[in-house]
Amino acid sequence: MWHHAIKMNDFIPLSVPNLKGNESSYALNAINAEWVSTGGYYINEFEQKLSEYVKVPKSAACQSGTAGLHLSLLACGVEPEDEVIVPTLTFIAAVNPVRYVGAEPIFMDCDDTLCMDMDKLESFIETQCKVKNGKLINSKSGKTVRAVIVVHVFGNMANIEKLMALSMHYHFKVIEDATEALGSYISEGPYKGKYAGTIGDIGVYSFNGNKIITTGGGGAVVSPHEQYIDTIRFLSTQAKTDSLYFVHDEIGYNYRMTNLQAAIGLGQLEQLENFIEIKTRNYHLYQEKGISLLPFRKDIRPNYWFYSYLSSKRDELIQFLTENNIQSRPVWKLIHTQKPYEKNCHWQISKSVEYWNTIVNIPCSTNLTENDVHTVAERIHEFENQ
Ligand SMILES: *Cc1c(COP(=O)(O)O)cnc(C)c1O
Repeated sequence: MWHHAIKMNDFIPLSVPNLKGNESSYALNAINAEWVSTGGYYINEFEQKLSEYVKVPKSAACQSGTAGLHLSLLACGVEPEDEVIVPTLTFIAAVNPVRYVGAEPIFMDCDDTLCMDMDKLESFIETQCKVKNGKLINSKSGKTVRAVIVVHVFGNMANIEKLMALSMHYHFKVIEDATEALGSYISEGPYKGKYAGTIGDIGVYSFNGNKIITTGGGGAVVSPHEQYIDTIRFLSTQAKTDSLYFVHDEIGYNYRMTNLQAAIGLGQLEQLENFIEIKTRNYHLYQEKGISLLPFRKDIRPNYWFYSYLSSKRDELIQFLTENNIQSRPVWKLIHTQKPYEKNCHWQISKSVEYWNTIVNIPCSTNLTENDVHTVAERIHEFENQ
């Protein structure tokens, strides 16, 4: 009924799921088999198909991208009192897990990819840190900078090439938050063919409802180091050392994906390349209709997850589109300005402020028709010309 009402109003949502493949039949199989919890065929199948797709030996499916990031920090050995460098222009779920493990984030600016500015990261490390006993130490706080969480924003990719070089030189771990970038890969240079999430020490995907594929809620962790994935699977299933006698030598978590979620995920994964095709086509269609969108890196194959339009009248445009039944939104409020992180260290943040003031994300669902794109483009032109 609710869906019907929306259709009748010709409401164009920002980013909604598309579940028209085998999702319902696989989910029904799981229900009929009465395997709906954290064990079952679809979990293994989903992990295997995902691993094959991004070309890694194994993956660990979990409850959410946030849970995956939490487990990744644990697997990388991030400890209370450590520091972790993160972007300020991102969704807050990329940062909160740093606090879950008792560490503190340091906020970095973005460059024109919207991802972390690696030149500024380098200048922070060179002027504010020193290497002592094989560890990167923040000179001011005296704490160990254990890791960098890099986010591949909106399906674009950060300058991971430079980040990996810095990580080898300065001894910190790299966690790729690829929650928005499943399917994006590098198409030129030494990392040619490498998927977002598979280059650093650990990578995390999300299958939340607005991501490029969804399991309702869900996530997965990948790594070139199989040991990390074993650790993460162990921690995600309550750290059970003996499953008959329930021996637990560590604190674990209830973070494993369910068979029901994985059944939906398998149906979605089958359509991922098709979804990327649709998103690519609609991205170019907007541009053909005169809507200029932020570009993606030229030397990658992006998944084109989210489209960013720049306007000096951000709030007025969002208001105008809302009145015209079109959903849009500003980019996330910068995290170093959010209440829980106001007192944290941040470094030369300027570009993120410009983008925060001007970005408007416009409808990008895979359900978007050519007619919808036309309508959104017309309304934006109407707004700009008034
Ligand atoms: C969606 C998202 C997450 C969290 O994923 P969930 O599955 O919703 O927990 C983390 N980081 C970024 C950048 C995201 O967009």
